[in-house]
Amino acid sequence: MQSIQMKTIGLLGGMSWESSAVYYQLINQKVKEILGGTHSARSLMYSVEFHEIEQLQHAGDWKKLTELMIQAAKQIENGGADFLVICTNTMHKMFPEMEAALSIPILHIADAAAEKIKEKKLKKIALLGTNFTMTHDFYKGRLTDKHSLEVIVPNESDRKIVHDIIYQELILGIVRDESRKEYVEIIKKLQQQGAEGVLLGCTEIPLLIQQEDSPIPVFDTTKIHAEKAVEYALS
Ligand code: GLU
Repeated sequence: MQSIQMKTIGLLGGMSWESSAVYYQLINQKVKEILGGTHSARSLMYSVEFHEIEQLQHAGDWKKLTELMIQAAKQIENGGADFLVICTNTMHKMFPEMEAALSIPILHIADAAAEKIKEKKLKKIALLGTNFTMTHDFYKGRLTDKHSLEVIVPNESDRKIVHDIIYQELILGIVRDESRKEYVEIIKKLQQQGAEGVLLGCTEIPLLIQQEDSPIPVFDTTKIHAEKAVEYALS
């Protein structure tokens, strides 16, 4: 029997489980694509209770959320994962605290996305995600400061549309054509403002928007992050 060197991928999921299921599928598909046959990914997932998370987010209790995320990540580390993938963009807000609390590395979702954007030589990018991701500095700041990208986000009323569709539909597994049309209109406006590509900075947005829906290149953070995890696991 041939034994393959493969790291165990730690997945901090459940935010929401709709997108974590996609991560799980993509990771295993990618390993199968690379190694063939009956090969699959070695992985460990801790899936949170999202209602609790979402309530604390909307109450602005990021301190409590940071504690919860560190606790969950430590369980994954103790379970034997070699590195961690946080299966959500928004909850990278507490990445620095989590990184400091763990001894295993964390693969940052925005770094993985920025690499892909830079490979395509794009400079100005539209960011769609939860209102937290679009407006707090943890995500945009990383793209601009660390990766020298110019990042634009929708105006306030469009941000509300993007955010509400995530929490009231996509997280519940509801995918509506009307919502897709609203997203496409918002992407077109951002294109008019000079965006050369659109970063789907929420792991549920790819359930709604695919490349064929968009007039500009789409960067799917769920897919990019899952593929990065496999690349790292096999490195
Ligand atoms: N999955 C989403 C994201 O990538 C939103 C859910 C959450 O708040 O974690 O940001």
